[in-house]
Amino acid sequence: MNAGVRDLVQGALMKEETIRKEIRMQGSAVSSGVAHAKVFLRGKTFREPVREPIEASEIARERERLEDALTLTRRQIREMYEKVLVELGAEHAAIFEAHLLVLEDSTVLKQVNDAIESEVTCADYAFWSVMSRYIEALRAIDDTYLSERVVDIEDVSRRVLSNLRGDAAQGGIVGKQPTEPFILGAHDLTPSDTAALDRKLVLGFITEVGGTTSHTAIIARSLRIPAIVGVPDLEGCLRSGDDVLLDGYGGLVIVNPSEATRRSYQRLQEEKGAIEQRVLDERDADCETLDGKKIVLSANIEFAEEVEDVLSFNAKGVGLFRTEFAYLESERPTEERLTEEYGQVVASLNPDLVIFRTVDLGGDKLEPGRSGEPEPNPFLGWRGIRYCLQRTELFEEQLRALLRASALGKVGIMFPLISSVEEVIEGKRILERCKKQLSAEGVSFDSEVQVGAMIEVPSAAVAADLIAPEVDFFSIGTNDLVQYSLAVDRINESVAHLYQPTHPAILRLIHHTAKAGSENGIWVGICGEMAGDLNLIPLLIGLGMDELSVAPSQVPLVRYAIRKLDAKVCASKVSDWFKLADPEEIYEATRAIALSAYPEVLG
Ligand code: PEP
Ligand code: MG
Repeated sequence: MNAGVRDLVQGALMKEETIRKEIRMQGSAVSSGVAHAKVFLRGKTFREPVREPIEASEIARERERLEDALTLTRRQIREMYEKVLVELGAEHAAIFEAHLLVLEDSTVLKQVNDAIESEVTCADYAFWSVMSRYIEALRAIDDTYLSERVVDIEDVSRRVLSNLRGDAAQGGIVGKQPTEPFILGAHDLTPSDTAALDRKLVLGFITEVGGTTSHTAIIARSLRIPAIVGVPDLEGCLRSGDDVLLDGYGGLVIVNPSEATRRSYQRLQEEKGAIEQRVLDERDADCETLDGKKIVLSANIEFAEEVEDVLSFNAKGVGLFRTEFAYLESERPTEERLTEEYGQVVASLNPDLVIFRTVDLGGDKLEPGRSGEPEPNPFLGWRGIRYCLQRTELFEEQLRALLRASALGKVGIMFPLISSVEEVIEGKRILERCKKQLSAEGVSFDSEVQVGAMIEVPSAAVAADLIAPEVDFFSIGTNDLVQYSLAVDRINESVAHLYQPTHPAILRLIHHTAKAGSENGIWVGICGEMAGDLNLIPLLIGLGMDELSVAPSQVPLVRYAIRKLDAKVCASKVSDWFKLADPEEIYEATRAIALSAYPEVLG
């Protein structure tokens, strides 16, 4: 918060004028919408325990206190799990399962018990000092996902501490929240906070920290309320009871909005509401262009629970199931567990196709406990199909589970990071071996499961004509295709400006892949983030994509866009786009078509 704005806030508070000054603070919008209400500010006051020496005879009592506090905490978390499961669904409740795991970590608990004895100190201090060390170590890892998960461990630790102290309901905002609709402001929101909230009354979130994968953002999007993160010094600039308007489109927090501001946001809300309704009204409409080209619009998911979203947004099955997420948990999933999970997904979406990408471990997704030195260039190293072809036991386990699930519905198996036809042939050979094993065991499966290759390495795109005869489909992974073709790390902020999906080289690689697909009679789709960018849909349709796979919540908008386009007109532009050398110009050319076809949904 800059000093000028702070002065304005303080000045406005002191003068007590009838018309208070409007103040605007900028943050990042992570969930869209507009909300206007009084803010309820949850302070970050938290007393760290101090080292209190105890008598040696009191060690057993302290350990007992710790055990009681842990038991109580587990019970509270289980209750929250049940509540969230009913109100928000399994995906959100899973957070609390993670909390329970923290409490059941025997190494951590042993360390706390040891510290009580070796330091002859109270359980509060011993517990907090062990947990703080873990929290600091996790914070030090340069990984957005991990650093945002630190909040879970902090949340659990504070709850245990408050139970040790006998504080009622600390760690959430229970008992203190307003009885009228309100906007919640906080340094950060933990899963316990959001579980304890009266979600009918909360109209929006503002936090000082967090990113698009933070719980604040995830929960806000699921509740479909606006959320703004990254607003510094909330406690210095806001007081509970302040009149606040949240602009979840532009990331603005407006304190004491003027009459004119309120009116303009009311108009904006009416406009956006009408557009959203129009988009949702077409939820069940055929996904085809104005000239009748059908596009398969499917969903990208990471977890089985997301099937509910696939159904509710009416996606045509799953175009990319990133199966490696199940392997990133502490224990490697068994064939039985995988069969059950995959089977449930396939059965719920039957008769639509579910494309499972075989595990894409490596790169930034390392299997826990993977031994050996860190690789110098992990994205160019032991990743995707390369990893699977060497870890055949792990690969076969997954392939057998996928085949077993195929008895319950339509399964597609897709190999990631293919760079040559030999890898596809080898992958298929192992798949055939699994089929033989299952047949010998008398286990039923669909012998016709579709097999596809992800085209995300430039060599695969260039050699697509050789790979196509070996597979049933191509799915272009533009996230990696752009990174590898342009030599631009997809997660490195300092070269982010060079990450250009509309680079002429990318157009040529997609075009070549599409041509190889159609010449060999197989379908070609895109499952990278390009498919969810409304500005690029004319380009992708023009390049001849048969399928687009996007996040479930993006499905209605992408369908809306597709239905406003003429595929022949888009295709007729391709030769002009090929003459352009500047990625910006190509972007503007496709955006121009999008703007003329569906300006109302473009930002
Ligand atoms: C891609 O690379 O475009 C893709 C969809 O795979 P991931 O983002 O999981 O690497
Ligand atoms: Mg990829």
